[in-house]
Order: sequence, then structure tokens, then C-alpha cells
Amino acid sequence: MRKTSLEDMTIRKLGLDDDETLTREAINSYQLYKLRETVDYAKENSPYYRRHLKGLSGSTLAGLKDINCFPFTVPDDLRKNSLDFLCVSHSNVARVVTVNTTDGDITGFADTQTPLQLVALNSSGTTSEPKRLYFTEEDLELTVDFFQYGMADLVETGQRVLILMPGDRPGSVGDLLVKGLERMGVEGRVHGQVVNPSETIKEIIDFKADCLVGIPAQLLELIRHSDARNVPPGTVKSILLSTDYVPAAVVREVQKIWYCPVFNHYGMTETGLGGGVECRALSGYHLREADLYFEIIDPETGSPRPDGELGEIAFTTLTRKGMPLIRYRTGDLARFLPEPCPCGTVLKRMEKVRGRLGSTVSLGGGKSLSISDLDEAIFPVPAIMNYRAGVSGRKGNEILDISLHVIPGAERHAVSSVLEALLELKTIREVFGESRLILTGVVNDRSIRPSRGTAKRTISDSREMND
Ligand SMILES: [Zn+2]
Repeated sequence: MRKTSLEDMTIRKLGLDDDETLTREAINSYQLYKLRETVDYAKENSPYYRRHLKGLSGSTLAGLKDINCFPFTVPDDLRKNSLDFLCVSHSNVARVVTVNTTDGDITGFADTQTPLQLVALNSSGTTSEPKRLYFTEEDLELTVDFFQYGMADLVETGQRVLILMPGDRPGSVGDLLVKGLERMGVEGRVHGQVVNPSETIKEIIDFKADCLVGIPAQLLELIRHSDARNVPPGTVKSILLSTDYVPAAVVREVQKIWYCPVFNHYGMTETGLGGGVECRALSGYHLREADLYFEIIDPETGSPRPDGELGEIAFTTLTRKGMPLIRYRTGDLARFLPEPCPCGTVLKRMEKVRGRLGSTVSLGGGKSLSISDLDEAIFPVPAIMNYRAGVSGRKGNEILDISLHVIPGAERHAVSSVLEALLELKTIREVFGESRLILTGVVNDRSIRPSRGTAKRTISDSREMND
């Protein structure tokens, strides 16, 4: 099996010759050097890190493990002080990304040319300032470079990629991906998020897209649309999914209709859009280790988790100039896979993200429910295109309300199949039972579709707080 293309990128960025073998030791010493450099650079140029890292410096790091002496950076720090993170003058900022949800959703940004203009609140009802991230031209170039290498296992010269993500503006994810693909002789075209599946399918056919890049729930909607079978067999040869939890049902469905591999990508605005991508073994992301240092930590104590154990992903940027981040907590849950990848690389491998901290609704008695639990139960039902879920009522007497976006004509059957699937989940059976579970099947409710900017779905929680 071909080794992940990220290995070529890492070899180049470490300054090794093409015929030199990449070793774990070489990566570790490069990362240690870059961590020291980043700490000193951030302390020198960012008012936030000057305060936050008082008494610490690059020389505190005798080895990679010493990163544990450094405090974490949390998303709230970014919300409150984003300008204090900036290490360059405004004239060197090539792009400002505003993330107007509580998570690090890479499609959840609005471009703003003026850093002073603040946008929107998240939809969960809690007011929180958006996060703003500043990138220099050099920073954007790093992303283009990662996209070029990251896509090399999916497509080859002469092929075409249809991008089902935003890309209208310079520096947006679609725009940078098109640039990365161009460098490998691949034509990328930005279609934008899936709003009308028929139109998207028509463009896949007209453009003869060899590869699609998109968001899991939107891809499921596409592939379950009756027009999906009009795509000539063998047209779509690979799919890359990003930005949200990837339910197993989505992958199975793609394989059933289009017979092509589905690659997972991990990244968010804070990682510089790209973070890690699967190789042809399709068994966990290889990480962008030349630009990012990843850790898996205990979400409660912050101490490092041994390889193989589940925890929260934290990362430090190693090459970012505009706004370096040190031990940034992502809220995403995953684990490093200690076994070597079948592709034989020395790059680390991270298992598919399991979900997000805070995306879980706590139901008391140690029970909780996450959107990924619901995804795995609901999406296997064939007539489901998408859904929206919310918990309401009083604590201890909750109601779970789910609106299902269903293929026309299948409403009744879909609702009963989903009910059956949900009652198989112990938590749902015990906490809600049939009596406090409301299921509605609707055919054409656009509001169930992820709107622009909220592609990362959550269970809304509108419970009365007084119990
Ligand atoms: Zn691999």
C-alpha cells in the first residue's frame, strides 16, 4: 500500500533529502525545535502569551514532554482577547476568519475584511462572542501546501474535484483547496454547500467530478436523493468528508451507491483549516506534524493520556506567524492509534473523532446523549435525509424532540423505523421511553438542513433550569 502523501510533505519540511528515510526521532527533534521557537516568538509578539506564559520560555522545553508545564489556551481566551493573540501588524494580516459558533466549525465562518465588525451569536441561545482568527499570507500558503499533499492520495493529475464547501472569497477553504489542487494538475471547482441536491448532482455529472469534498450529513442527503443514481457508474472515485462527525451509515451508503472510498479529514479554522487526513488504508488520520504538535489530554485534569486512550485533542501550531496557538483545547474527543498504519508511515495516526465535549446533553444519573449516538441510530434508516434534535422540559422529566427530513412518500415508515432504532439505545429507552419521545417526519423542511455556518450539528438544549 502507498504510504500517506503527508510523509513526502514532512520530509520536505524537515529539510531531508528525498532519498533519506523519515524517522520518528527526526520528527520529534524537529517538533521540539519548532515548539521552542513558537513559544519564544509568541511571547515576544503577542500580549496574550506574554501574560499567559509568564516565567516560561522556549528553553523550558528540554524535551517534548515538558510541554505539560505550559498552560492551555481555551476557545474563551480567543473570544475575549483575539487581538491580543496577534503577532503581526494589521497590514500583514491577509485574512480574518470569524467563527460564529461555539465550536471550531471550519465552514462556520463569515469573511470579514474589517476586524471590528462582529457577527451573529450561536443558535443555542447562549450568547458568546465569535472567535476571530488572523492569518498572514505565509499562513495561508501553509494551508495550500497541506491541501496539495493531503489530496494526493485521493486524486491524480488530470482529474477534477467538486468542492461542496464555501469558497467564494480569497482565503476561504474552497479557494485554498482549489489552489492546492492546481499545484498537482488537478482542477478544483467550488460548488458551495449542498442546498439543492438535484442541482449538485447535475453539476457532478456535467463537471465529471472524479472526487467530492463535503460535509457528512449533506453528502448523505445527496446520495439518498433519487437523482444520485443518474451519476454514471465510476464517475466519482473518491470522497473526502470534513467538519463534522462522520456516521458509519454515510460511509456505507456511499459504498453502496457509488462504490468509492470515503476519506476522513480532521481540521478546524484554528488548525489552519487542515489538521490530518486518512491515507488509502482509511483507518485514522495521519497528522500534519510539520505544522502542528498534537496531544491527547484528560478533559478533566489536563494531564496527558497514554497513546491508545481516549481524550481531548489539544494542539500547538509550529509554523504559524499571524496568530500562533499554544496547547489549544479543541473540545474534540479522539485517541492516538498506537499500532502502525498498514501504509507503513512513521507519522502518528489518530482515530476518527468520536464527538465533542459539550455536544453531549447530560441527563442525570451519569447518563448522557450525544449527536453522534443519534447519528448512528437514525442515519441507517434508508429514507432519512437529515434530522434536527432537541431536549426540552424539566430536568428529570425531559422530552426528546426529533424532526426528521424524510424522502417524500416514506414519512410514516421512516418515523416508525427511527422510533424502533432509538429505543434500541439504552439511554433513550430508560430516560425518555416512548412517552417522552416526539418524532415528526417532514418532507421539505429546509430548516432541518444545516444552514450555512452551522454545519456541525448539536442537540439543542432548552430545558428549564429550575428542577
Ligand atoms: Zn497510513
